[in-house]
Amino acid sequence: MRRALAEAPAHEVMAWVAQTFKERAALSCSFGGPGGIVLAHMAAQLEPKIPILFLDTGFLFPQTHALKVRVEREWGLNVLTARPRLSPEEQQEQYGPALWTRDPDLCCRLRKVEPMKALLRSFDCWVSAIRRDQSSTRAGAELIETHVLDDGREIVKVNPLIHWTRRDVWAYIAEHNLPYNTLLDEGYTSLGCVQCTRRAAAEGDERAGRWPGTPKTECGLHTFTRLRMETSPRSEGSRANSPATQGIPGSGAKSKGGG
Ligand code: SF4
Repeated sequence: MRRALAEAPAHEVMAWVAQTFKERAALSCSFGGPGGIVLAHMAAQLEPKIPILFLDTGFLFPQTHALKVRVEREWGLNVLTARPRLSPEEQQEQYGPALWTRDPDLCCRLRKVEPMKALLRSFDCWVSAIRRDQSSTRAGAELIETHVLDDGREIVKVNPLIHWTRRDVWAYIAEHNLPYNTLLDEGYTSLGCVQCTRRAAAEGDERAGRWPGTPKTECGLHTFTRLRMETSPRSEGSRANSPATQGIPGSGAKSKGGG
């Protein structure tokens, strides 16, 4: 089955997730980059719909909240929102001002990783929109992975877009006329918290605008678990399940980043 999935288009992978894990599957979506919207749209076609996991760090752009509210209302998705234990004011009181400038890893752990761990306690399958072409840190991602959480519990992580390119994502959005974060029309290529996100060149590393001027490239959401083993057949360089091989037009697609 998993070998067959490696060749399946992303919407079939999503359907497999829904059938296999039922209410124990969830999709994480930041409502920042465009990849999450693609998978949220696929999730909304399924019955029952796969719920969405959303982390409200307290520092997100208003446009991110606006997209979340719109998608929730128009697509009838169940969005489960997690917030940090500390408010921004409490964090400042406890750790001092602008923790993100002094210890961004700690700030991300408090505001993203710990809330995500709490959300994942209710699920056995976590669907994510990461793609291999997004950055070197994501180039080794597999379609289906087994991860170990820090409490020792295992969770299946599914990345239906690993073979997609930035162009594929925008082609899907254009074809289905999907809404997306309007900041992606204003020079941003990847979106996180306001104080850690800058505009970046349209081409090149689409996550270059995240934590600019620091060596940090990941918030920790995709690195806090321990990969137990590769559970899907490695298809190095294959784009078997990308839209380019599934008849979704790629020409004329917007050339913006996301994720
Ligand atoms: S992205 Fe920046 S502000 Fe947001 S949680 Fe991470 S370090 Fe803190």
